[in-house]
Amino acid sequence: MDLRISRIEVYPVNIEKTVGKEVAVTYGLLRGLTNVVVKIFTEDGPHGWGEGAGSTDMFFFNGESQESVRAALSKIAPSLLGQDALNLNEIHEKMNLVPRNQAKCAIDVALHDIIGKALKRPVYQLLGGAFSQEAPMHSTVGISSPTEMAAQAIQRVEQGYRTLEIKVGKYEGRVSVEDDVARVRAVRDAIGNDVILIVDANVGWDVHEAIRIIRKIEELDVLIEQPTRNLEGLREIRKNSSAPIIADESCQGLQDTVRIIQMEAADMISMKITKFAGFTESRRVLSLCEAFGLGYRYDNMNQSRLSATASLHLTMAFSKGIPSGGTNFLSFQNDLVSQGGLRIDRGIARLEDSEAPGLGIEIAEDLLGEPDTYVP
Ligand SMILES: [Mg+2]
Repeated sequence: MDLRISRIEVYPVNIEKTVGKEVAVTYGLLRGLTNVVVKIFTEDGPHGWGEGAGSTDMFFFNGESQESVRAALSKIAPSLLGQDALNLNEIHEKMNLVPRNQAKCAIDVALHDIIGKALKRPVYQLLGGAFSQEAPMHSTVGISSPTEMAAQAIQRVEQGYRTLEIKVGKYEGRVSVEDDVARVRAVRDAIGNDVILIVDANVGWDVHEAIRIIRKIEELDVLIEQPTRNLEGLREIRKNSSAPIIADESCQGLQDTVRIIQMEAADMISMKITKFAGFTESRRVLSLCEAFGLGYRYDNMNQSRLSATASLHLTMAFSKGIPSGGTNFLSFQNDLVSQGGLRIDRGIARLEDSEAPGLGIEIAEDLLGEPDTYVP
């Protein structure tokens, strides 16, 4: 079978959230998905799908947008035509000339989809096989009043979720130490003590605000995600509190992970397949975490069920972290995956068909915009 790359199509995909499901975070209101989907064709083998989560709503997370992902792919895609899809090392060598990870993730995931389909094996088997066939997911509650957040948290626990992430930080342009403390207390009171509670400030606090807030809530058994932007700040906060600190925005690659280990800046990192350029680098990052005792949790960006399914394959193969994953994709008006992939039952994710080759998904192509097409 000839797996040389013969054609790459790059599609913008825009899907709004269902009314009422918008999520307020430090960066503003997350209203929908504005991502990029890649379809890679091979000479005489299968095609594969991947996604770059350059959601414009999350521009301040990583400086990526739909436009930046398309621009990066316009530089990467032509150089990949004619390459064998199996030559992942050489392909990453070429892609690494571009310092943006979302575009690389789309390519890397699509190539794994192709290789899996060609070998008639699911992607998690390409990653070394599954430790687990299922992953408990988490549900995210956006910033609002403590009462509203507690009500939403109860609803999610009733739906079966045993891990919740709640957003705090800047709300309507300002930080209130008292309000954030009240939000966390209200949610913990409402859900009891046996639900894992992750409090994500999305860089919304400064170091002093973070220390003041965390000291008031650390006895509530919470994990604190990305209280402030830089690693020096995270290290300072970590020294001054007992709650585990998770790095998300400040851990966007292998080098960041090494620096976090060297600086002892965090207890855990947030593993998002889209942040780490797909399966290839994510595996390296997870191996590094396991070798140095740095914890990890799974999460998803503002991304569709395509990437969430890719993330589940990774979670199945590397199960030593908090095996949760974000469920943002449930809040969109349309589902980019028309068949197969990740399904959730009572907060637990499984593949619809764990033997299906590649990612095991079909894409609803009618939801895609006009492609940028790259051919030899
Ligand atoms: Mg986060």
